[in-house]
Amino acid sequence: MPRLNSHPSGRHFLQIPGPTNVPDRILRAIDHPTIDHRGPEFQALAKKVLAELRPIFQTRGPVVIYPASGTGAWEAALVNTLSPGDTVLMCETGHFALLWKKMAEKLGLNPIFLGGFDDGSWRRGADSGAIEARLAQDTPRTIKAVCVVHNETSTGATSDIAAVRRALDRTHHPALLLVDTISSLGSIDYRHDEWGVDVTVAGSQKGLMLPPGLSFNAVSDKARTAAKNSKLPKSFWSWDEMLEANSKGFFPYTPSTNLLYGLAEAIDMLQEEGLAHVFARHARHAEATRRAVTAWGLEILCEVATERSNALTAVMMPKDNTGKAYDADRLRGIIHANFNMSLGQGLSKLSGWVFRIGHLGDFNDLTLAGTLAGVEMGLSLAGVPHRAGGVQAAISYLRDTIPTHTNELGKRKAA
Ligand code: PLP
Repeated sequence: MPRLNSHPSGRHFLQIPGPTNVPDRILRAIDHPTIDHRGPEFQALAKKVLAELRPIFQTRGPVVIYPASGTGAWEAALVNTLSPGDTVLMCETGHFALLWKKMAEKLGLNPIFLGGFDDGSWRRGADSGAIEARLAQDTPRTIKAVCVVHNETSTGATSDIAAVRRALDRTHHPALLLVDTISSLGSIDYRHDEWGVDVTVAGSQKGLMLPPGLSFNAVSDKARTAAKNSKLPKSFWSWDEMLEANSKGFFPYTPSTNLLYGLAEAIDMLQEEGLAHVFARHARHAEATRRAVTAWGLEILCEVATERSNALTAVMMPKDNTGKAYDADRLRGIIHANFNMSLGQGLSKLSGWVFRIGHLGDFNDLTLAGTLAGVEMGLSLAGVPHRAGGVQAAISYLRDTIPTHTNELGKRKAA
């Protein structure tokens, strides 16, 4: 007797904006016996990943690796640099900025929160002009850190970190700059040193193409100096013991050995492709996705064209004639049931009327074509008003913009 529905054939399309699809190369790298994390073989692995991670963050300084999800690295950034009652300037770009601000409150910090859902700031990146104005008012220099989410995964809006740096410089403000790159690192150009960032927060499960479970702090000299005077309690997250052990190729507690095998492989893959090509690939896929959404006649949540994310696109559901938005979760459910594809749900205030298409990580033209085909068929099955032709708009763009290096790579493989 055939067993129906016991196993969907073909691969699941994991098109949420992280965790992303893990390439076979990385899965194979992880699939090895765990080694002694105090032995020489581990030491060589740790030294390699600790050194080779730096160019991914575009920094010459140290990068701390935690066996934790991104939330842990958020906490590490705050507790290592700040003291109870410190004022921090944060920007409400969306759900993740809001969570980081709530964490700051729970830790006993005093966040000033710029922007808000009702003034439309969930539809754009952080306002560097508003940051500059607030810093200029702060003559007693009570603000100790400015915290910005580079790529707001809930909305698909990016913030201009170089502009935030200029806001700090123009006001000669000494506050630290802390940036969340959890859904941008390894997908969207990000420059820790050049942009004068003090702590960069990142995670393993998005542009780095790994499973969840590792997170990172890239740390500037200024942040390390701040850490010496910081009084928030910390133990597991403490940089000093970590950096001391890392300098010898070890960790102060048991590291995620197998994920570090995967990380070494992910770094190799990013280096082989070249970061510039990785960023260009994401930009091209994002543009193709936006063309599909526009052709469907649907609206992209991020309303500032230059701030639209190259890692994901958040799409607003159209409204029916009573003014109610068609149900985004029903659409996602239909797509999941019929085409074995997961799309990102709308988070908190975006719940039910926004869905998100992840186009980051291990991703190529045909993965995108399949993803968009699933969305277009789903829109039709769910009875959501739209125009046909989104997939066609995207594939025409992809066909017309094949990068020369992809051609060359293909020819070399065929030879
Ligand atoms: N910040 C951003 C921008 C994120 O996208 C996420 C998760 O998706 C987080 C923080 C929280 O990270 P985690 O869920 O890995 O703890």
